[in-house]
Amino acid sequence: MLPFKLIYSDLYDLNLGDHVFPSSKYRLVREKLLESQLASSEDFLEPQPAEDTDILLVHTADWVRKLKSGTLEPWEIARMEVPYSPELVRAVWLCAGGSILAGRRALADGVAVNLGGGFHHAFPGHGEGFCVIHDVAIAIRKLQAEGAIARALTVDLDVHHGNGTAFIFARDGSVFTFSMHQEHNYPFEKPPSDLDVNLPDGCEDEQYLHLLRENLHHALSVFHPDLIFYLAGADPYCEDQLGGLALTQAGLQERDRIVFAMAREQNVPVAVTLAGGYARRLEDTIAIHVGTVKAALQPVEQVA
Ligand SMILES: [Zn+2]
Repeated sequence: MLPFKLIYSDLYDLNLGDHVFPSSKYRLVREKLLESQLASSEDFLEPQPAEDTDILLVHTADWVRKLKSGTLEPWEIARMEVPYSPELVRAVWLCAGGSILAGRRALADGVAVNLGGGFHHAFPGHGEGFCVIHDVAIAIRKLQAEGAIARALTVDLDVHHGNGTAFIFARDGSVFTFSMHQEHNYPFEKPPSDLDVNLPDGCEDEQYLHLLRENLHHALSVFHPDLIFYLAGADPYCEDQLGGLALTQAGLQERDRIVFAMAREQNVPVAVTLAGGYARRLEDTIAIHVGTVKAALQPVEQVA
C-alpha cells in the first residue's frame, strides 16, 4: 500500500476521441499503476465534485452560469479547444473536487496525487487551451477559506506557461506562482508569475535540471508555503507534439525527484496534478505520469 493517496474518478475521462488531448490518459495511468503493482485499489480515493460555491472562489458567476446552462458563445468554445458537453462540465467539476481532496490529503500524508487536473490556462471568466476551470486555484482558495492553509506555492513544470495561474494570483501575496516553461510556445501572452523561467527551444535535461534546482530553491527560500501544488506536466518531453523542449524520460523522473526532495527538506507537503502531456506515443505520456508517482515514493536524497 502506498504511503499517500491517489485521487481518481472514471468520469475524469472526457471521451474526446481523436483529439490531441488524450483524455483516456487518466484511466490508463491508473491501470498502469495497478498493473505494475505500484499501487493497489485501496490507494485510490474517489473525489466528490466541487461545490459551485468553491468554483466561485475563482471564477465569475457569468462563466459558471454559461458552463452549467450550456450557453457558451461559439467563440468561447473555440477558445477552450475542447468540445462543449455536459459531461465535460461534470468532469472538470470532479477534477476540481479531486484537487481540493489532493490538497487536504497532502496536508495529512505529506503527498497526494490527483490523477487529473492541472488546468492552468483557465481564467476567471473564460477557458482556453483545453482548460475550462482552474482546479488548482479553486483548491488553493478553498483550503485557505476553510483555514487549512494560509500560503501556497504553485510549481508549474508543464511545458506551457501557467497564464491562468499567474493572472488569478497576480495581486495575491498569499500565493507564490512559479512557472518554468518554453518561452516560444503557447500561450503567446504570458501574464507574469511571481517567478518565470523562460526556457529556450530544445532545452535538454542538464540545463533544465540546473535551472529547476536553482529557482525552486530560490522560491522556497523567499516564500515559506504551507502547501505546494505541483503541476507535473508530461509535455517538456522531447517527443511531445505540443512542446519544443528536449527532456528525456530519465530527466523528467529526476525533475520530479528534485521537487519532492526539496519540498521534504523544507517539510512542505505536495499536492500533485498531472497537467499536459501529448507525446507521439501515448504510452510515453503514461510512463512519465507514472514516474511522478514513483518519484513521490523515493526517500530524501541529496538534491544538489
Ligand atoms: Zn502543457
